[in-house]
Amino acid sequence: MTIIARRLVLALPAALLAAPALAQGFPTQPITMVIPFAAGGPTDTVGRLIAEAMARDLGQSVIVVNVGGAGGTLGAQRVAQARPDGHTILLHHIGMATIPTLYRRLAYDPVNGFETIGMVTEVPMTLVARRDFPAQTLQELVAHVRRERDRINLANAGIGAASHLCGLLLQSTLNVQMTTVPYNGTGPAMNDLVGGRVDLMCDQTTNTTEHIRAGTIRAYAATTPARVASLPDLPTAAEAGLPGFEVSVWHGLYAPRGTPAPVIERLSRALQVALRDERVVSRFRDLGTEPVPAERATPGYHRRFWEADIAKWRPIIQAAGTFAD
Ligand code: ASP
Repeated sequence: MTIIARRLVLALPAALLAAPALAQGFPTQPITMVIPFAAGGPTDTVGRLIAEAMARDLGQSVIVVNVGGAGGTLGAQRVAQARPDGHTILLHHIGMATIPTLYRRLAYDPVNGFETIGMVTEVPMTLVARRDFPAQTLQELVAHVRRERDRINLANAGIGAASHLCGLLLQSTLNVQMTTVPYNGTGPAMNDLVGGRVDLMCDQTTNTTEHIRAGTIRAYAATTPARVASLPDLPTAAEAGLPGFEVSVWHGLYAPRGTPAPVIERLSRALQVALRDERVVSRFRDLGTEPVPAERATPGYHRRFWEADIAKWRPIIQAAGTFAD
């Protein structure tokens, strides 16, 4: 038996014994929400808004803890190995669907290590650059990147991060290789982009919208089929000349495998309440996104969507042959 399998077997009786008590009194203490990326980034922003609204419904604080690094796998590992009692949860994004294929060696099970609680939101991405980058439009950017590829660097949040996937798609669409600069989240990467220390980045509108509006960075396109309502002047990649350059970043909430079903149901209900919260809805709207409808914020829908997305990405990653290890 592998170490992970043994750990799961050992964890099971405790989880079963704890189940009835936990279901009744849950939550009995503050909940820790792990964000697998640095503070100040887009996943952090979504997580903090949700945490605050869930706390009101649950009657306990939901404390956000940032565990960034290794493309989001360190934070995911922390939750997979936590006590399965619902007091430790994970907010993660599309990386949960690519990591099982991208990483062939992990210290946790990236699929069976978790229970799904519900989906949260699907966030558009934008292709952005430092403010003084010498290209005004996407067409100019494409020409510039093709000419200067060796001298351009591209920030991301590590292998498996959404910024990494979007950067890969950009490089394969343009058929160029750029130097990538990994951070433990696009929060710190954004500081360097604003400070002019890196050239380019793909990131969620939940991190880029306010910088684009303030003019502290330059934006070329949204990676969605339609324009983003909060950035009406920004063309889609297809409008700007790069059809097929589309990525949207779904987020979901997870608990460690073995968390009792009634506890998962309670967390899912709190998530659904949070997604209807006025402040969440209006902040999401300001940042170019919206909550998923209630039926998608459920454990069953989330599990099916996640599994389908793992199956969608597996052949793409295998064909590209780029793995994290
Ligand atoms: N947006 C980041 C990513 O590339 C993660 C983050 O910092 O939230 O996935």
